[in-house]
Amino acid sequence: MSTIVAISTAPGIGGIGIIRMSGEECFDILDKVFKQKNQQNIEEIKGYSIKYGHIVENNEVIDEVLVSYFKGPKSYTAENMCEINSHGGIVIMNRILDICIKNGAELAEAGEFTKRAFLNGRLDLSQAEAVIDIINSKTEREAKVSLEQLEGNLSYKITQIRKTIISIMADIEATIDYPEYDLEEVTNSRISKILDEVNDILESLERSFYNGKILREGISTAIIGKPNAGKSSLLNLILNEERAIVTDIEGTTRDTIEEFISIQGIPLKIIDTAGIRNANDEVEKIGVNKAKEIAKKSDIIIAIFDSNKKLTYEDKDILELLKNKNAIILLNKIDLDRKIEIEEIKKYNKPIVDISTRTRDGLDNLYDEISKMFKLNEIAIDGETIVSNERHKNIIINSRKNLDKARETIRNNMPIDIISTYLKEIIEELGKITGETVTEDVISEIFSKFCLGK
Ligand code: GDP
Repeated sequence: MSTIVAISTAPGIGGIGIIRMSGEECFDILDKVFKQKNQQNIEEIKGYSIKYGHIVENNEVIDEVLVSYFKGPKSYTAENMCEINSHGGIVIMNRILDICIKNGAELAEAGEFTKRAFLNGRLDLSQAEAVIDIINSKTEREAKVSLEQLEGNLSYKITQIRKTIISIMADIEATIDYPEYDLEEVTNSRISKILDEVNDILESLERSFYNGKILREGISTAIIGKPNAGKSSLLNLILNEERAIVTDIEGTTRDTIEEFISIQGIPLKIIDTAGIRNANDEVEKIGVNKAKEIAKKSDIIIAIFDSNKKLTYEDKDILELLKNKNAIILLNKIDLDRKIEIEEIKKYNKPIVDISTRTRDGLDNLYDEISKMFKLNEIAIDGETIVSNERHKNIIINSRKNLDKARETIRNNMPIDIISTYLKEIIEELGKITGETVTEDVISEIFSKFCLGK
């Protein structure tokens, strides 16, 4: 394969910049452009070593650099590779890049280094995809999930499932080839048991995607309640306490802001409105109509009521919004006398938490309810494989459809060879995760999402 080169560090000014080169002629090209202090030839230089020297063109010193050597197959791409550590600064890095190109390297495409790692069999497709996910991670947890995928957790599970199904197919063939042994009944019950197990694994992988989505995007959370119930007090209390505010994103309308906070490791994306934050501004207090709009968009509603007052029609409208939604009812101001009609509220069958945003009483109970609701504790278990990629999730869903058909066939005592068709589909489908059965188009599309130099 040709020798490719790219600037791998982010464009802009930095302490150092890295120009990366990979391919058969990597060390020949390097020889022409890099004057090493110790003048060792490539046979003497070990892989994973660093050499000091200068990048030189026509006897002109371009930069003082350190060069790391990686000898294939023990390198990122499994080819001969080097990384030139130059001074950061776009002029110098571009100059070095140019010199490498003049001496025979080609400018790499986005993701081409990782694509080569995949094509050379060093990474499977899901591991290569994990590389982009690590780079794009916005939270530590997300990065951790992607790292586990890079280490091959998902690939391992998928490969095991494929092996299991392949062995079932072998059994089926035996049954068909030797009908005189009357193996069918035994095989049927055995297969049925195995397919149930496979289904459990795929189901939990599919579920993990939705949990993973929460990790990536946050649980979209609406705090609603009529004016003076204590919405802004609650939000301010949470924000002051949880320093892990990740980012503020301007919403589509002027008065909506999405605020990321992390509560006990649970990422909440609070659909905030100017009205909640600026409680003192009477004009901006949120009415029930606005609450309805916000509630529709959220994964969870925190409905807050003033427990020191009797329920009003507005409160009842808000309670109605909670039907069929994940919701937590907060009875605020428990430091004051209770006047609210609790029996009325209980009818809505939602968890109720007593709280005082003034004294902070009950806040931990609110956090506990939130984590219970999303079973996020399950996500925290180390070693659990999490599917975080939409493409993988769709493949798993398709596989499960075929799996259902296969199980149905067995339940209905249909001839055993029919299920082979479905099993073949599953093997084919799951192979798209690891890359064994994937088309060139899909591969190109996946790598085009990478950044240059990776
Ligand atoms: P919002 O309109 O729903 O945002 O309500 P605010 O957070 O602005 O609170 C309305 C009023 O209730 C303010 O005067 C708060 O100080 C007061 N308040 C909020 N929470 C509590 C509480 O737990 N106890 C008491 N006694 N007063 C509270």
